[in-house]
Formats: sequence, C-alpha cells, structure tokens
Amino acid sequence: MSFDLATRLAERRAAQLFRQRPLLESPQGPLVQVDGRQLLAFCSNDYLGLANHPQVIEAWRAGAARWGVGGGASHLVIGHSTPHHELEEALAAFTGRARALLFSTGYMANLGAVTALVGRDDTVLEDRLNHASLLDAGLLSGARFSRYLHNDAVSLANRLRKANGNTLVVTDGVFSMDGDLADLPALCAEARRANAWVMVDDAHGFGPLGATGGGIVEQFGLGPEDVQVLVGTFGKAFGTAGAFVAGSEELIETLVQFARPYIYTTSQPPALACATLKSLELLRSEHWRREHLAVLIKRFREGAQAIGLELMDSATPIQPILIGDSGRAIQLSQMLRERGLLVTAIRPPTVPAGSARLRVTLSAAHSLEQLELLLEALAECWPLVEEGVSYA
Ligand SMILES: *Cc1c(COP(=O)(O)O)cnc(C)c1O
Repeated sequence: MSFDLATRLAERRAAQLFRQRPLLESPQGPLVQVDGRQLLAFCSNDYLGLANHPQVIEAWRAGAARWGVGGGASHLVIGHSTPHHELEEALAAFTGRARALLFSTGYMANLGAVTALVGRDDTVLEDRLNHASLLDAGLLSGARFSRYLHNDAVSLANRLRKANGNTLVVTDGVFSMDGDLADLPALCAEARRANAWVMVDDAHGFGPLGATGGGIVEQFGLGPEDVQVLVGTFGKAFGTAGAFVAGSEELIETLVQFARPYIYTTSQPPALACATLKSLELLRSEHWRREHLAVLIKRFREGAQAIGLELMDSATPIQPILIGDSGRAIQLSQMLRERGLLVTAIRPPTVPAGSARLRVTLSAAHSLEQLELLLEALAECWPLVEEGVSYA
C-alpha cells in the first residue's frame, strides 16, 4: 500500500484544521496587500514596526554592498565574519551577559542549546505551553522529559524533586499564543533550590518588554545567576531574522563546540547581521515605540471587554480573543476579513483542544485610528458569531 495522503488531508479539512498560507504581496506593516486585497492586519510579530524601517533596510543594503549576500560557509569554517562578530558583542552588552552566539533561526537556537546541554541521564522540564521548538528540542535531546503545568512553580517543584542528572528548566518568556509572562521569579527560585539551570526563550519579550527592550529578564531584573541560558529571536520585534543565545563564556563556548544546529549550517548572510545591528540600536533607543504600544494595548483591552470578548491575562502586544470552537474562530476571522481586517484564527494543535482563538497582535506601527477600526468591526461581527448566525 502507498501513502494515503489524500485521506489524511481530507480528515484535516473535515476537522476545520486545514491551514492555508495567505499570500503577502507587500512589505510587512499595518496595511498589507494579501491575496489581491488591501487589508489592515493585526497578526504579524513585528511589534515595534521595524521590519520595513528605512534605516534597517539601508543598513542591509550597505551591508550587502560591503560584505556580499551569502555567508559562504559555516561559522567554524570561514563563515564567521566581522558583522556577525560585532552583532554578538552588541547582544552580549545589551543582555548584560558575558557572551552571545548567533543562530540562523530561533528554532535552531532552541534545538542547539537544549541538545548541547542535556542528554541521556539528564532531565529537561518544560512548561506545557512552551513553543513547539522548545518541546521538540527537549524530545530530541534524549533527556528525561517532563512538562509541568502552565506557569506553575509548585508543579515544577514536584518534578524537580524527581529529576536526575543535570536538570534544565525551560520556559517561554512571553507565551506566544496567550501573551502572558512566565512567572520567572518563582520558577527561578525553585530551580535554584534544586541546583537546576533555567533557559528562557524570550522571542516575544525582547523589544516590547523592559526599560530598554531587554525583555522579561530586564523587566524582572534577573541576571545570569537566575537565567543561565537566555534566547532571543530577530524575526519578531527586531524585524529581521535569526536568533541568539546569551550566557556565560563557558556556556557559549560549549555551544560553539557541541550545538549541532550551530555547527552544521551556513552562517546567516553578514548583511543581515548589519541590519539586525541597526534594528537593535532602534529597539533600545526609540522608547516611544514601547510607550505607544502600551497605549494601544490598554485601549484594545478596554474596547474588547466592553464588547464582551473574552481576553487572556496579557499585558503584551499579543492579545488573543478566546473563542473555543475552531469553526467559530474561523467564522469571526472571515467576517473581519470581509470588512478589510486580517486577524488570524489559531486552532489546535497549535493551541490546546477547545481553545481556538483569534490571535490579535498589536504593533507600534498601528495608529489609534486603525485600532478603533478593529474594535468597531469586532463590535459588529462578534454578536453574530456568538448567536450562531450562519454566515455562508
Ligand atoms: C518564533 C518563535 C521561535 C522561532 O524563532 P524563528 O527565528 O522564527 O525560528 C522560537 N520560540 C518562540 C517562543 C517563538 O515565538
């Protein structure tokens, strides 16, 4: 018998879980062209509006003129160039860690860090709602793998008592589908008591959180003795691509020696590192972007609650509207789209069964007027979805 892919695809369709890729025909931003239509989008992770920033584009252009377009080799061969090195030094200073190491993607950074640090006879403990790349990394490491209840230090402590070998506690900083923050002070205290290390993936916290955009560790004032392994990605608020791990000299050297997703891949284009260096500068210095985001977040929550929408416990630009049923989430998303608004429905298995949602994300590039358009459309559409009015 051959692979019955047709049945598998049909089942996914029937379960309302079939995914489609909208075709973006413009640069990222609040106003986008998608599948031939102009739409006002509330679904990118470009939280600070840097993905199409003229100075970042110019840094990329100048970087390409100076350094060419390809990394040309892996870092350990001849692909580690001056812009990569400068970006790593700037990231170490930014995070207050001894060193930082660039990876080509966040997925690879997580895979590389976890598998280099733990293996057979060790233990990795993860939040149930961690990003897929962290869960995959834990499984791939071969360590004893266990998931604790979401953000629950007591549940973590119970598992820490049964842990063997080197123990790594791994959590998102900002949970990507819920928008809530990891309770790092409590989690780190439990880890420290058990002599475990803590790894935080703050893909969504760098930029929006902290006085200078230093993310959740800056917000909580946690140093390398609390969070030994700190991961950030550039595809979100930095507006570019790639990722980094920051930590001690020994940690970074261990990753250089043993992290396979670091070793066995071509370095990212040096010009990309030039662009990220510029976006790091803007992210740190242009505090007005964080202030404007805070205004948008407050207004969205007030407006959405007045409409009777169910929000989640989030003070970040990730503001999901909890719907529950996948079909209804898609229906609301489609009705908004009819009105020129793009908000993605997120369904299982990306989120737990029965917790489909519209993942609204806000960006410093949105105006207050654009946010009001979203709230007006939600006020119009939500009662229809709630009453179960069929929308064919
Ligand atoms: C996006 C994301 C990643 C993956 O980063 P990429 O650079 O896009 O591969 C990892 N962790 C979290 C929490 C993310 O949101």
